[in-house]
Amino acid sequence: MERRVRGSILNSYMEFIKKKWGKEGHEQCVKDIGIEEGFKNGHYYRDEIRENILRWISREKGEVYTVECGKYIVSNLGILSWLVRFADTKTLAKKFPKNFSEVYAYGRVEANTDEENVIVIRLYDVNRMKESCNVWIGVCQGAVEMTNAIGEVRKTKCAVDGDEYCEYTINL
Ligand SMILES: [Zn+2]
Repeated sequence: MERRVRGSILNSYMEFIKKKWGKEGHEQCVKDIGIEEGFKNGHYYRDEIRENILRWISREKGEVYTVECGKYIVSNLGILSWLVRFADTKTLAKKFPKNFSEVYAYGRVEANTDEENVIVIRLYDVNRMKESCNVWIGVCQGAVEMTNAIGEVRKTKCAVDGDEYCEYTINL
């Protein structure tokens, strides 16, 4: 099955680039990886486009920015970001599997919130490269910050390193 992602995700990656490195950085990325601008939010595109954007960020600017990209995506959810501020991190985590499947047409997410002060997020068949895994670390960090919580995010398993899934443990 072809791995597809919604244009809204690609647009937020490109917005991150524009915000971080300006119009010139954005234009350079578009040119370097040969993409057409203006993805339609509701349409699905090949996930390779997303991976190529991440490779570009990592290669041209540094791997650390792939984590920052994940944080940006969470903080840039529009009206949702305003609502998220009134939610607690666990409530947000519980909604995560459904939210994920609305924008990614591949993979699967599990969020375990059974333990007090601990959230465990598992991503099955999602990340094929380290940079993509980094984005999810940023997403988890962003979710903690957005809900005004204090917490530490650790990557505890990684499919890129041969584990069955990528796992992020959030200690609140
Ligand atoms: Zn991973």
